[in-house]
Amino acid sequence: MVVLDGVNKHFGALHVLRDIDLTVARGEVVVVIGPSGSGKSTLCRTINRLETIDSGAISIDGRPLPQEGRELARLRADVGMVFQSFNLFAHKTVLENVTLGQIKVRKSPRETAERTARSLLDRVGVSGQADKYPAQLSGGQQQRVAIARALAMAPKVMLFDEPTSALDPEMINEVLEVMRQLARDGMTMVVVTHEMGFARSAAHRVVFMADGRIVEQAPPDRFFSSPRSERAKDFLSKIL
Ligand code: ADP
Ligand code: MG
Repeated sequence: MVVLDGVNKHFGALHVLRDIDLTVARGEVVVVIGPSGSGKSTLCRTINRLETIDSGAISIDGRPLPQEGRELARLRADVGMVFQSFNLFAHKTVLENVTLGQIKVRKSPRETAERTARSLLDRVGVSGQADKYPAQLSGGQQQRVAIARALAMAPKVMLFDEPTSALDPEMINEVLEVMRQLARDGMTMVVVTHEMGFARSAAHRVVFMADGRIVEQAPPDRFFSSPRSERAKDFLSKIL
């Protein structure tokens, strides 16, 4: 579903992604971990073309990542993204947040879009909040709306960049539970997170990054019980 082949990315003199090869199969859940500054967010942002790359190639569902125009809009719809900060439209209601992209990008009729939105809001457990504004919701509820908004575009893959890092502790689980359910439903997912419990229980594969490289990747059982690289051992000793 997602293939990165020899991807390199610089910010000026800083080489932030180094020869990244990564393949994510349909229905696979890949959790990306690693120290701050290792390139995890940049990796996510290149996959939906929020950042350009300097060399290498990226394809989604067998098609090369488009660089601009209508094709790019379609790609953005195919690749859902959920950020640390919820990024909802503050002056739109919850329902409007979840219908807008469907109407504008997917060209769905309003009634269809609203039906889809209500069903997704129900699925993430916030159906009672449809007519409220984002600021009237808790952080956990806002993040679940952000997930519903991304799902409304019927994406082929979902990217999550530290979706629970800005949440109060008691709200983390309600968001992780929605993500676990999504994984069980077969969504292809790339998840950057520090929630090792989620990585252990939901990931098919853990990808460990350091200094812009994929240093090690393995199924979670193997990775957490016997990391092979010194960098991964060092990282795990600090967080576990
Ligand atoms: P992570 O998400 O793993 O913490 P990032 O991908 O955010 O890492 O950042 C990787 C490196 O690239 C860091 O050194 C960061 O400071 C740098 N960086 C990220 N975005 C930019 C940018 N827009 N301009 C310049 N440097 C950036
Ligand atoms: Mg980051």
